[in-house]
Amino acid sequence: MGDKSTTKPAQNSPYVNTDDNVVNFMSDNPLNRLSHQRKDSTWLATTMAKESTRFVLFSNLHPVCIPAESRAHPAKASPSKQQHLLTVTHENIKSYLEEHEPVVVFLGISSQNTSPQGDSGKRSNSTQESSPAWFAVDATAMSLDQLKQFDSRVVLLAVYPGMMRIEPTDAAVYAQARALLAWHDRYRFCATCGCIATVEDAGYKRRCTNDDCRSLQGAHNTCYPRVDPTVIMAVSSVDQSRLLLGRGQKFPRSMWSCLAGFIEPGESIEDACRREVKEESGVCVGQVKYHSSQTWPMPSSLMIGCLAEALTSDITVDKTELDDARWFCREEVQQMMQRRHPQGLYLPPKQAIAHQLVLQWLKTANL
Ligand SMILES: [Zn+2]
Repeated sequence: MGDKSTTKPAQNSPYVNTDDNVVNFMSDNPLNRLSHQRKDSTWLATTMAKESTRFVLFSNLHPVCIPAESRAHPAKASPSKQQHLLTVTHENIKSYLEEHEPVVVFLGISSQNTSPQGDSGKRSNSTQESSPAWFAVDATAMSLDQLKQFDSRVVLLAVYPGMMRIEPTDAAVYAQARALLAWHDRYRFCATCGCIATVEDAGYKRRCTNDDCRSLQGAHNTCYPRVDPTVIMAVSSVDQSRLLLGRGQKFPRSMWSCLAGFIEPGESIEDACRREVKEESGVCVGQVKYHSSQTWPMPSSLMIGCLAEALTSDITVDKTELDDARWFCREEVQQMMQRRHPQGLYLPPKQAIAHQLVLQWLKTANL
């Protein structure tokens, strides 16, 4: 979470690779994924049926949520509109699982003595036996009325900005679950031969149903969930006094952010940073340093956050990519960060890695 982000002060350069652990929103997953158990169908079946096991639900990839604190204190709905993932028991969902056979993904077991969000300080033992297991279920076949039978206050959070309202302690679990369910939603057929592929390994693999398929011989990345690396960079001017920001075509009016783009096959992180900035803004970039990363499960990106130094300052905006791009001085960036810019310009919220990259630039840029 942004508030936990820490960095060391700059020394010779405004750009430093910090040795501290930067924890972005949707990071710091409290679950132990227990990947070695994924092939053990007996263990999985037994675990699913345990009374302590929790199931989080998604409908059309929207998380089913309840107001923060309402699970622990039903009478205290949070006025902040923060949301927790709704959890239900096996007993609650048993008939739905039997009737619809939805995609179910094993997320892990609580591994930090406390469950995600959820139990309001209730402690559980750290042993595998006593720690609750967590699963994600595609509950798309449930109507909203059926979901409201679990809790009348349930809401389906929109992708953006709705997911920003998920409590930080639940956010990594949301990201893990949504990324996997989104993969199953998009990859129902074998990428090698086009036949139906079925779910294996507790939701972490799909197996082609064609016995002659090449994907069944050897290891193939088409059988496994994908992660798409994306670079996002805070680009400082040559004299380090200004920051390059852009406006995407679909951004809310007045919001500016760091430039970003997908890494292409056969491309390094550094080369992708330089290419994207050059393509979108015409600015040439020299030094690129890694800052931190953020999973972005819409559907499967990994945002690789970098701090970069420009070599040139002239801007030529690629209007097919961006609505606009320009340099902002330190004072303006501070105003945007604090939402007191005279023209109402602002930056993404603290949950976004772009916010953290800009914050880092503000901490380190020379006046
Ligand atoms: Zn196949």
